[in-house]
Amino acid sequence: MRGQVVKLDRGFPLVRCEGGAMVRCEHATALVKTAYSRAVIGDYVDVSIPEGHDKGIIEDIAPRSREFVRKDPTERAVPQVLAANFDRVLVAQPLADVNLKRLERELVLAHETGAEVTVVLTKADLAEDERQVEAVRAAVRAIAGDVGVLTISSAAPESVEAVRELIPSGTTAVLIGKSGVGKSSLVNLLVGEDVLEIGDVREGDGKGRHTTVSREIVEIPGGGCIVDMPGVRGLGLWDAEAGIGAAFPDIEDLAARCRFRDCKHEDEPGCAVRAAVEAGEVAPERFESYQALRQEAREVERRREEARRARGEKASTRRPSRTSSNARASHRTPRKANRKRR
Ligand code: GDP
Ligand code: ZN
Repeated sequence: MRGQVVKLDRGFPLVRCEGGAMVRCEHATALVKTAYSRAVIGDYVDVSIPEGHDKGIIEDIAPRSREFVRKDPTERAVPQVLAANFDRVLVAQPLADVNLKRLERELVLAHETGAEVTVVLTKADLAEDERQVEAVRAAVRAIAGDVGVLTISSAAPESVEAVRELIPSGTTAVLIGKSGVGKSSLVNLLVGEDVLEIGDVREGDGKGRHTTVSREIVEIPGGGCIVDMPGVRGLGLWDAEAGIGAAFPDIEDLAARCRFRDCKHEDEPGCAVRAAVEAGEVAPERFESYQALRQEAREVERRREEARRARGEKASTRRPSRTSSNARASHRTPRKANRKRR
């Protein structure tokens, strides 16, 4: 039976099977032996329900059209897939307390998926005045480039209509952002009722607190689906080349004009990137972020290479790349998860 993982919490994945039946499932033993082989929210799966068994068994996971991947925060060089098979990533940041460094990282990870990307500035009602709103929007636009930037507030429910339009029927959006930025509140406004629990704001620091880490695909009446991704603290880069390229197209274009093809933009002669920074065409902070993110990506790649060697694999055994709708992105999807095992 085909189905889709629609809820993931600490327990067993909940799968909505063809015909609508909701079945709690465990993974087939053969499936969990390999790396990358656990179903995530959004995955399409083959399920069997053995006679007299109270749970379904996930026998196979279908190839993913998209996946949101970060470095596993607890492991040295292992990827962690947080969601699969979506069309858009919404990056939420609180307007009055925006973190531009985090935003840059979130945009790299979002672009790396190959999906459409939109920034959503939340809690606009907490802004001091219209001038602050405009100043933040300008700062965010300078980082987001061609990516759309929306401003919402639960104090003005009509402000979420622009978000609703981005998620038409038949499409799925995933919502990322720090805990407490108002993701659950946005989902509830889109749905029109309280389907997700809202975190309390702690006294003093004004930060939200999360009561749950469950991930769930929520249907928007008359529209598509949205997945809140709570409890995502660290966003370590995994594959990030395409994501960095898409998040920093200005710098990548300049880099193409450096004298050396492998220019690191440090002290090489004929570096077009450093020249542009010195000429004031690229903000120094933006260049620093770019360099730091590239450095992190290279470091992860180096550790992966080490791990591969330790496993006795040939250096740079790359899985076949897959093209995506994003012209800049060439994705390396872990194909292991998709191989038939029976
Ligand atoms: P999440 O952790 O990202 O899902 O954030 P929540 O939706 O749980 O919201 C965290 C806190 O921010 C809660 O106390 C909400 O009531 C509050 N909040 C959410 N949206 C807004 C808003 O637009 N304006 C204001 N002032 N508070 C909001
Ligand atoms: Zn250079």
